[in-house]
Amino acid sequence: MEFIRFHVRKNDMVQVIAGKEKGKTGKVLKVLPKKNRVVVEKVNFIKRHSRPTGRTRQGGIIQKEAPIHVSNVLVLCPKCNKGVRMGTKVLEDGKKALVCKKCGELMERK
Ligand SMILES: [Zn+2]
Repeated sequence: MEFIRFHVRKNDMVQVIAGKEKGKTGKVLKVLPKKNRVVVEKVNFIKRHSRPTGRTRQGGIIQKEAPIHVSNVLVLCPKCNKGVRMGTKVLEDGKKALVCKKCGELMERK
């Protein structure tokens, strides 16, 4: 499998740029490096039937975010208000920040 360098991290705000969820934005909840996928909040909901288990007698349908391919998302630039390609920059204090390649906006990562 091809290894993709992840350009997004957990808690990044991203926009979906391809696929059926194109245009949606959300926070990265989970990264799955081995699968080259990410789980984005409120994106790519799937319905699952949950089986009744010991404690909760009731089964039912639960909605859950399904992972999407990492190449389908870009980090959301608050200034451009859309998903853009980001560069990285090392700040004076040694922290790394993202730089929007379109508008030059700096975004610190937590
Ligand atoms: Zn920008």
